[in-house]
Amino acid sequence: MLFHARLIFFFAVILSAVGASAQDASTQERVARPDVFLITIDTLRADHVHCYGYNDVKTPALDALARDGVRFEQAFTPSPITNTSHASILTGLWPGSHGVTDFAVPLSPLHPTLAELLKKQAYHTAAFIGAVILDSKTLAPGFDRGFDFYDNFPEHPQTKSRWGRIERRGMNVVQHAESWLTRHPAGPHFLWVHLYDPHDPYEPPAPYSQTYKGHLYDGEIAYADSALAYFIAYLKKNGLYQNSVILVVGDHGEGLGEHHEDTHGIFLYDSTTHVPLILKLPGGNDAGAVVHAQVRTIDILPTVLDLADVPLLQTGEWKGDGESLKPYLTGTDVPPRPAIGETDYPLRFGWSPLRSVRSESFKFIEAPRPEFYDLNIDAAELDNKYEPWSDRVQKARALLAEVRREEPPREITKGTVGQGTVDELKALGYLGPADERSTTTVPEPSLLPDPKDKIEEQNLLHAAMVASEDNRAAEARQSLEKVLTLDPNSPVALRQLGELELQGGDYVKAAQHLKSALESLPDDATATLYEGQALEKSHDLAGARDALERSLKLLPRQFQARLLLGNVYLDLKNPKAAEDQFEAALLLQSSSIEAQLGAANAQIAEGNAAAALRDLEPLSKKQSQNADVFGLLAKAYSGLGKTAEAQRAQSRAKLLRQHTPQQPPQ
Ligand SMILES: [Zn+2]
Repeated sequence: MLFHARLIFFFAVILSAVGASAQDASTQERVARPDVFLITIDTLRADHVHCYGYNDVKTPALDALARDGVRFEQAFTPSPITNTSHASILTGLWPGSHGVTDFAVPLSPLHPTLAELLKKQAYHTAAFIGAVILDSKTLAPGFDRGFDFYDNFPEHPQTKSRWGRIERRGMNVVQHAESWLTRHPAGPHFLWVHLYDPHDPYEPPAPYSQTYKGHLYDGEIAYADSALAYFIAYLKKNGLYQNSVILVVGDHGEGLGEHHEDTHGIFLYDSTTHVPLILKLPGGNDAGAVVHAQVRTIDILPTVLDLADVPLLQTGEWKGDGESLKPYLTGTDVPPRPAIGETDYPLRFGWSPLRSVRSESFKFIEAPRPEFYDLNIDAAELDNKYEPWSDRVQKARALLAEVRREEPPREITKGTVGQGTVDELKALGYLGPADERSTTTVPEPSLLPDPKDKIEEQNLLHAAMVASEDNRAAEARQSLEKVLTLDPNSPVALRQLGELELQGGDYVKAAQHLKSALESLPDDATATLYEGQALEKSHDLAGARDALERSLKLLPRQFQARLLLGNVYLDLKNPKAAEDQFEAALLLQSSSIEAQLGAANAQIAEGNAAAALRDLEPLSKKQSQNADVFGLLAKAYSGLGKTAEAQRAQSRAKLLRQHTPQQPPQ
């Protein structure tokens, strides 16, 4: 076995040498650089991995990698949110420094990513993601910089299923990675592989769904580990293991009910910030070593540069927040590294953001009600010993102030996303920005509710989003109604309930909930559009008109709202106003048949059949099978007294209606 591995390695060296001899001197250097495989496992708590001392799960791949590499016992992410945490891994910066503090916020080109830095060293780079949350076209713009290939999700997914549309199973992700590697054998490679599986909802495939019944989160971890095993086996088979750098890290943990947090994103306790970090070095150096010191996931980028002999740290060309982990391996005395924590996710719900500082012996959390834990005697962070005059509290506050001072000024424009992207986020259980205008003003954070007082609400809101995505409307409604018993004015719950009733067809209830939600969210254009839809469906035309006008004032480029408002004006017998809306809709989507028909309908109602005819005649040639086009054409002809043409168009419309499925009336 050993001989076999050596033989493959020998051939790999020979092959690289043959390839290199034909190329220039600069690529000679390339041969010396190791392949780098970065594997991030989503939502992976350190204390739920077998080699971190947890006995209720089998993680043989992670355990074997830890035996072949170095296991960092105390590694911390600065963020409990996927995008922010990954941006820190990819840039070596604190969240405040790279600015990706929310979904869809672009990663600024000012901050070089690991992929960009390695690509400049002639690395072949590719990224394989397990969830749409890291899709560089929508929710993670800029993450693809430096990658030759970035495995985004299809723009128009063919499936309604969760799999392939918003999420990929780990085995699927590693298969994509393997087939890319097979097609691109020339190294050195930098691959980032993201396994999303342990993220909720916990639905591992068989046999993990059976083996781990009752603790399916562990089942997802065991399944992700099996995907990792598959990938490592591929690397070994292809001679890519022995001399490569392999890094496996969790992006954040999972609350699992600790501090009453079911999932992650709101709090900064160790349950969601302590992650496993395993580093396998080229040649199996330091195999089996364990580092007890506290390290951070922002240290990954400088470590890789260090191990790949890219001298950017030494020359000072790379100036990030992280530091190489190499000194821990050489036995050098390393000064303690504080771990900063940041989460702005509570702001989505109108609650205070949190900041924290963790040393090896204490944790300080800046919140409306600040917290301080002595980790030596209270590792579970249950006994708040906060005293404002404490020396350690003051030092922690000074450090947070210093980190903030070094942050580049925030851009005014936050991430802007379309409704489709907001829906994708919700399907993954996250509350996204309601629309482009929702992140306008944030009151002084200390005046906002403390997330500690709101966590039950967040758990229920999260459960409702997941249930709603799963078409379990009754369960979603139940959770949302429970939120309202805790906070009758919760705008998030009222908005969600409104949407749910709108989808379910109870339009009167939907309109009521949305109206109440909008009292706290007057700038929410999408909720206002929903209110307009609910009112139109419940035949309150004047109410629908007012809501749609308000929504369009907030966000003018909404095609659906323009179209609906045009139809509402037609029903209100105001064809001039209707025509204006259809024309505005056509400016947004010039080829929309619905908008063209609406405009023609309005013109006929205004008594301008000639103008309608000018548009309808060419349209009837392009849309020769569309009954509605011929129905309107007949109306326009009869408006002009052209009875014969009108009859002909009418019979064509009738024929088409008999032979094609009935279309909704225009
Ligand atoms: Zn994540």
